[in-house]
Amino acid sequence: KKNLVIILLSFAISRLILTEELTVDPTLTEILHVGLEGEVKLEASELEAVSLDFGRLSSKGEALAVVRPASADDVVRVVKAAYNRPPFAVSARGHGHSINGQADTRMKGVVIEMGRGSRVNFLPRVYENEMYVDVWGGELWIHVLKATLEYGLAPMSWTDYLYLSVGGTLSNAGISGQTFNHGPQISNVFELDVVTGKGEVLTCSEHHNSDLFHAVLGGLAQFGIITRARIALQPAPQRVRWIRILYSDFSTFSKDQEFLISLHGKPARQRFDYVEGFVIVDDGLVNNWRSSFFSSSNPVKISSINAEGGVLYCLEITKNYHQGNDDSADEEIQALLKKLNFIETSLFTTDVGYVDFLDRVHKAEVKLRYKGLWDVAHPWLNLFVPKSRIEDFDKGVFKGILGNKTSGPILIYPMNKNKWDHRSSAVTPDEEVFYLVAFLRSAVDAETLEYLSNQNRQILRFCHDSKIKVKQYLPHYTTLEEWKDHFGDKWTQFNAMKMQFDPQRILATGQRIFDFEP
Ligand code: FAD
Repeated sequence: KKNLVIILLSFAISRLILTEELTVDPTLTEILHVGLEGEVKLEASELEAVSLDFGRLSSKGEALAVVRPASADDVVRVVKAAYNRPPFAVSARGHGHSINGQADTRMKGVVIEMGRGSRVNFLPRVYENEMYVDVWGGELWIHVLKATLEYGLAPMSWTDYLYLSVGGTLSNAGISGQTFNHGPQISNVFELDVVTGKGEVLTCSEHHNSDLFHAVLGGLAQFGIITRARIALQPAPQRVRWIRILYSDFSTFSKDQEFLISLHGKPARQRFDYVEGFVIVDDGLVNNWRSSFFSSSNPVKISSINAEGGVLYCLEITKNYHQGNDDSADEEIQALLKKLNFIETSLFTTDVGYVDFLDRVHKAEVKLRYKGLWDVAHPWLNLFVPKSRIEDFDKGVFKGILGNKTSGPILIYPMNKNKWDHRSSAVTPDEEVFYLVAFLRSAVDAETLEYLSNQNRQILRFCHDSKIKVKQYLPHYTTLEEWKDHFGDKWTQFNAMKMQFDPQRILATGQRIFDFEP
């Protein structure tokens, strides 16, 4: 059957070549002859689908073919073919939840869709005694969670949203409210199988091929395609007390957040398990897609709280516990809350199952999809801001540039640099504590998109002019100079690793870091 498909496709291509005056790219014929077990898709609808991502900001659509591998060997076959002369570009696509076309390919290359589909050979494999799980690089975190929970175990470090692929988040960092305590997801990986830009499969870890291991983690997909990741596990809690408290004063808010993350490494009973927060600048909570938490039964109306400068800050914390241990969880929470200086009347608590908490953003997704508000443009901006300048950022951006229209949640929470492995490719500011500030905005029309994109530029300009040394998370730049500046001290190593593992610069051209010349 496979041969028949190849013959038919080759026939179709030769027809195309004849009718389109030999304009069809040799990449296509190349890819059809590498003997894949999986699928090759050439239909316009498939090519268009991989040119769109969550950001919906560009849809250049330069892919010539989409490959759905049936095994890691298929990934090797495609990359090997791409590495040969004349080379062609190859990008892995996880779940396509990038903002700026990072998972797309430039220069008429091939996109490898890493999604597992229904393939059982890619299912997560849990090693209970060793406390880790081996997962396919295209696996979604929601499935990793469900598979490991069967054994009462779970990974330690998460993202807020679980419909992201393992390879996609490990290429960036993978951060959420657990990062202060466990580090980002890239700090919780034991081993990887990586198909490098030369088509070799290398197993790498802290002790074996460690250069590749550290380069790939946070490496924006520049050195190889992750086909397997070994992820650390811990016993999973069953329930979560989920708490939100409000502040009208930024410095009290940030002091409390910094105090809570300074408890990292303490026994679980002496700290929270998750620390995040968000900024409320407009009619925010009503329009905020994470607002379901505040129900009409809440004792205090948010609007009754006086916000200085029109801005409120919400600190979000959780305590994990096992069924039956409610009382001790409550005691631990009370002891910690006593040390915080929030607006007393603004304590909101809810209690949910562990999966419900981790999968909370998906609930918002379902609602937004229903309203037609999910598949819209997302001009997101994610910044790491050094602690020493976060007050200036508050004054200049939250109380200045933003005005009263943000069009989506603005997250803000601090992390400790010592939980990040400095050998990884991920870039953070040059201070021990830094904040994630995430402007997660949606634009339903061109005018709003223009307005929000302008505001993003203003924010970046403000940071530049005020010498606030921010680093972009999920970075997007278009010139080499900007990339060099982004990587700073890490650039020399990053560039050297590129020459070693992807010398033809065929991988992840959608990131626009290195120029690919066919
Ligand atoms: P894709 O967009 O498919 O790919 C991203 C990059 O990774 C591309 O360069 C691609 O080539 C590469 N890649 C994909 N698979 C592989 C692989 N197997 N091997 C090597 N490279 C690969 N991030 C956080 O850290 N924390 C959050 O809380 C968070 N929340 C989010 C919520 C939403 C709703 C969205 C849309 C994004 C969120 N993100 C968050 C950002 C997200 O982690 C990144 O955009 C991530 O890259 C998306 O994963 P993906 O599988 O969709 O990747």
